[in-house]
Amino acid sequence: MKILKTIEELQDVRKNITSNVGFVPTMGALHDGHIALIKKARTENDIVIVSIFVNPTQFLPGEDLAAYPRRDEADKKICEMCKVDYLFMPEISTIYSKEEILLKAPNKSYILEGKARPGHFDGVLQVVLKLFGLTQPTNAYFGKKDAQQLALIAQMVKDFFLPINIVACDIVREFDGLALSSRNVYLNPTQRKDSLLISKSLYSAATLIAKDEKNINVIKERIYKVMETLDVEYVAIVYREFNELKEIEIGNTIILVVARFNNTRLLDNIWL
Ligand code: AMP
Repeated sequence: MKILKTIEELQDVRKNITSNVGFVPTMGALHDGHIALIKKARTENDIVIVSIFVNPTQFLPGEDLAAYPRRDEADKKICEMCKVDYLFMPEISTIYSKEEILLKAPNKSYILEGKARPGHFDGVLQVVLKLFGLTQPTNAYFGKKDAQQLALIAQMVKDFFLPINIVACDIVREFDGLALSSRNVYLNPTQRKDSLLISKSLYSAATLIAKDEKNINVIKERIYKVMETLDVEYVAIVYREFNELKEIEIGNTIILVVARFNNTRLLDNIWL
């Protein structure tokens, strides 16, 4: 595995690749969720590029960018083990210049995650477009866990006619159901135990729907009931493109929940 730090190094490598490229963008502190994306990329492409870049423009003022977990050495070992070909680890000044053209995410990026974090998705799209330009992937891998991010990136690829196939990867969970996240390390033992109610509420909703319950309010009520002891930020049911839902459509509907544990927001969702 080769570690690349500069634009020149990456562009030099990229111009000599003529086969399929699979790309997995991450912010590091790699866990089994990231590893699943990398492994999928490995089986589906000749060359695999992973990036680790804690992107400052997707953090809002007051969100603690400096405290985001960083584990560069462990991450390098994981990438090596997963047989990654190139690991791109740029500095902030390598990616951003002082005054640059900014992307503006559409209105649907200001609901749900975008409402809690206004402007967050502008930063996500900005960095992903840059990374796409640099790596020019055939296939790019994203987790369904960040469903709104995935929908917006798929839309960006469509809107800008980028010749990139976006691959949506299933959520990887702990043995007891908690969706893996770099933020799980912030939970104390009690919060860790309570956090199980999040996935439990989603499974409970799925069971209800499997029994043919289609009433959105009834389904939401069930989810809130299961999580009644938690600080729930939102429960939402949307179409995959994050348009307003009229009725549940199996195959095109996502149920999303966010619960707060002090400053830690935990996201989860289920794709019906
Ligand atoms: P991050 O490093 O948090 O920006 O995540 C990098 C990629 O890994 C994103 O596409 C995430 O959606 C994906 N990801 C994070 N956690 C999981 C998980 N538990 N299961 C599947 N994919 C995940």
